[in-house]
Amino acid sequence: MDLMTVTPAVYGPVRSWRFGQSLGIDLLGAVSTCSFQCRYCQLGTIERLTCDRTEFVPTQQVATELHQMPPAAIDVVTFSGSGEPTLARNLAAVIAVVRQQVRRPIVVLTNGTLLGDRTVRQDLAAVDIVAVKIDAVTAQQWQALNRPATRLNLEAVFAGIMTFREMFKGHLAIQTMVMAPWSQQDEERYKTLIQALSPDEVQLNTPLRPRPLTPPSQCPRQS
Ligand code: SF4
Repeated sequence: MDLMTVTPAVYGPVRSWRFGQSLGIDLLGAVSTCSFQCRYCQLGTIERLTCDRTEFVPTQQVATELHQMPPAAIDVVTFSGSGEPTLARNLAAVIAVVRQQVRRPIVVLTNGTLLGDRTVRQDLAAVDIVAVKIDAVTAQQWQALNRPATRLNLEAVFAGIMTFREMFKGHLAIQTMVMAPWSQQDEERYKTLIQALSPDEVQLNTPLRPRPLTPPSQCPRQS
């Protein structure tokens, strides 16, 4: 395979404030692909808005890139990059390759929208840390901030996250981007949801980093 003609799937390591030196795996390829179009997304406008799983990057490409990678100090391997990593149908196969070749804790950053799918839950059950995005507790907030693909339903997404919580043995983090002020009622809803999910960690973030002015294909990948 001529790796000069394809977009690399392995990048970094990059410094992650939360996880240390993180080797990134991007299974989406050159076209930003997600089931959300978050207003604050560092990728800019998402080019492919979808909920359908597809293989975007061949598993063998990742294996070859990991094999050819120069030695580097790495704390974790993080699946993130140009969109939502669970949209990659070969996620489980690539996780198995990473387990074999890198032998570091594996992190997946997800928006949680596909966790209603049993296959996705099974794929993610094999990793050490899953960080799930929950930015909104009402459909109105969700539509305004995360701008989901039309097929998605907030209550169904919460149900999928809850089902995953019940079976996942690893470290579950909830990541929440705090944007507009919440009403007291919204805060109570959020607390109730978090108590029900009982995650190992809650990360409250603010969009401090500027949004890109360059086209998405030239933007830094998510980490
Ligand atoms: S911030 Fe994450 S979930 Fe939101 S659009 Fe960008 S890649 Fe998708």
